[in-house]
Amino acid sequence: MLGCIADDFTGATDLANNLVRAGMRVVQAIGVPAAPLDAPVDAVVVALKSRTIAPKAAVAQSLAALAWLQGQGAQQIYFKVCSTFDSTAQGNIGPVTEALMDALGADFSIATPAFPDNQRSVFKGHLFVGDQLLSDSGMRDHPLTPMTDANLVRVMQAQCQRRVGLIDHAVVAQGDAAIRARMARLRADGIGIAIVDAISNADLMRLGPALKDLPVLCAGSGVAIGLPQNFGITPSSQAAALPAPRGLRAVLAGSCSLATQGQVRHAIHSGMPALALDPLRIAGGADVVGQALSWAAEHLGQGAVLVYSTADAEGLKRVQEQLGVDAAGAMVERTLAQVAQGLVRQGVGQLIVAGGETSGACVQGLQIAQMRIGPQIDPGVPWCHAALPGHREGLHIALKSGNFGSEDFFTKAFALL
Ligand code: ADP
Repeated sequence: MLGCIADDFTGATDLANNLVRAGMRVVQAIGVPAAPLDAPVDAVVVALKSRTIAPKAAVAQSLAALAWLQGQGAQQIYFKVCSTFDSTAQGNIGPVTEALMDALGADFSIATPAFPDNQRSVFKGHLFVGDQLLSDSGMRDHPLTPMTDANLVRVMQAQCQRRVGLIDHAVVAQGDAAIRARMARLRADGIGIAIVDAISNADLMRLGPALKDLPVLCAGSGVAIGLPQNFGITPSSQAAALPAPRGLRAVLAGSCSLATQGQVRHAIHSGMPALALDPLRIAGGADVVGQALSWAAEHLGQGAVLVYSTADAEGLKRVQEQLGVDAAGAMVERTLAQVAQGLVRQGVGQLIVAGGETSGACVQGLQIAQMRIGPQIDPGVPWCHAALPGHREGLHIALKSGNFGSEDFFTKAFALL
């Protein structure tokens, strides 16, 4: 029913999670799949890494994803962007939205990153992050996509050939008919794309029906909560059903965020066997992977184990000063991905990975191409199930962005499964 194209990996999971909660059965594909879907689902989210690459490349990748989704019968296309509308001066939100519209012959679309559950609201076309305008928030100083203008009509217009307009809150508050009437009016005025205000979930639920006939829309993950109703789908726990869990349990933590530091401490205090990896020993050529796997083999039979490189700011700085930021990061990611591979060989069937980049490295190392999205553990983090090459039963995997999740996440997640 719904074919989604996400401009980054954790954003794709965020969207998939919202769709599952609204009742859709969802698969997340890592990159454009090479083969057709092998399971009946209601939505597919193709995760790209196109947020900050050159606009031409982002357009090409997005059109390849579109072609695959159309081949699977997608009735509507959802271009998922960041909830802070992260983009460079050249795009890529505008160029990709317009390329998708051109390919689909669409003369009108909407764009809105509103996601009130996540403190992102749009009012009079201006994006608020919590209580602050986007341009006053930390996003002002982002290293890759500094956002210095909170007026999304202006931001989008600067990236688009088509004229950009606004469907403001006074209209959204009146519901479906009023929103449709405003769209018709904007169309007649030569507007091709409208930023849409939304400051509550009720706004998003009112917006959903009005979007029914648009071939393509551009949004954060919030708009997703109002779309499944258009396909006759209502929330159901069945949507999140995964195969029965099996195998041994492990956690790999490569994030050094404050949240993950707390989660590692909590797991250790609650008695989970834990092994810290020392980046300086890895750099020195020690067989850290082999040692970690021998250690895990001793403990896995008794319950979940934790292998972590998580360090506090001081520890991190020490390593980065000696090895360099990028080199240390890549080396630790490679090591944790190898440990993930080894753990799965040892019979791990339930794996939690903490850290965005770390998750990317582990998913790649395990050669995971598609994941079925299951129940939510904490906001933005669902359990997933992935087929693995050479494994009959597949793997339950939870990919946690560094700063997500409650302090007891690692123990809570296994209990939920
Ligand atoms: P987050 O989601 O918190 O940003 P990521 O996994 O995306 O977590 O990023 C953490 C980065 O830090 C990764 O590149 C990881 O390899 C690196 N890293 C993890 N532990 C250490 C450490 N002890 N020293 C240096 N770098 C580390």
